[in-house]
Amino acid sequence: MTEINPATPTKLPNISFEFFPPKTEEMDRTLWDTIERLAPLNPSFVSVTYGAGGSTRERTHATIVRLLKETALTPAAHLTCVGAPKSEIDDVVTRYHEAGVRHIVALRGDPTTGIGTEYIPHPDGYKTSADLVASIRNRYPDIDVTVSAYPEKHPESADFDADIDTLKAKVDAGATRAITQVFFDNDLYFRYLDKVRARGIDIPVLPGIMPMHNFKQARAFVTRAGTTVPDWLAAKFDGLDNDAETRKLVATTVAAGQVQKLAKQGVSDFHFYTMNRADLVFAISHLLGFRPNGAQKAA
Ligand code: FAD
Repeated sequence: MTEINPATPTKLPNISFEFFPPKTEEMDRTLWDTIERLAPLNPSFVSVTYGAGGSTRERTHATIVRLLKETALTPAAHLTCVGAPKSEIDDVVTRYHEAGVRHIVALRGDPTTGIGTEYIPHPDGYKTSADLVASIRNRYPDIDVTVSAYPEKHPESADFDADIDTLKAKVDAGATRAITQVFFDNDLYFRYLDKVRARGIDIPVLPGIMPMHNFKQARAFVTRAGTTVPDWLAAKFDGLDNDAETRKLVATTVAAGQVQKLAKQGVSDFHFYTMNRADLVFAISHLLGFRPNGAQKAA
């Protein structure tokens, strides 16, 4: 892997941001303030998640369409196979295409009965994420399809081979990029990437970076999704339960350290789970060398 000398001016990495669709008017205001703050950093794309079981379908759609209409950003709409027949999912894709959306993050989704329970596809639905990817690409070859990747393997995968079989099936179906589940140990990412490349998968695999400003809540959430939260990380937040300001600084420092190390080891694309907050991700992007409106500095 190429070591990038931090003293040498070099090309900036690509960054992308993930948001979730707002539930209330107040959350809506927060999201759009966040977008306004982050947009001048010129992300490659911004993605909007799709609630478990399709629960946010209309809100995801509305957010994506507003991004298209009111900003110069390239939106990517998340979509899952959960709880709907193919015809309904196909309609969602058609509506996106008609609105001008050309990037979808295609996922299987979690079981409606909860993470850890058996996933049962809708009887008339897409059975796997690869089926969804194939359908989108066959119907709309101009839609760019991104998929998920799991440096610690997905909790349902029997082993890494099975996990990478799934990624391979998604790539063979037409996916052109993967975004990883959040991870905190960079070695996990590089070991996973070695396995992926050894299978002949050559698409970009963007590390998913999550600054953990609300550590306790975020830990519970990511652990359920199969991410290991190392003891050293928990120790950094020890004693800060009632000190949101310091937690924010610690979370920024930790995530900035993680991305800077990845960048030094040649990683050129980063996807940030923003949790609809601008401050931490703005600071981390700044440390990577990003400045508003293209006045970029090489890190
Ligand atoms: P896949 O990649 O299709 O499968 C994951 C793994 O499960 C595979 O590696 C495979 O080994 C195993 N597996 C799948 N099917 C089977 C089977 N039939 N038998 C045995 N093993 C099987 N969820 C949402 O609800 N909305 C979102 O917007 C959303 N966005 C996400 C974005 C990213 C970048 C990531 C990493 C995850 C996201 N998720 C989202 C979570 C995702 O829906 C869950 O992790 C879900 O459990 C798996 O969906 P997937 O597309 O990743 O699954």
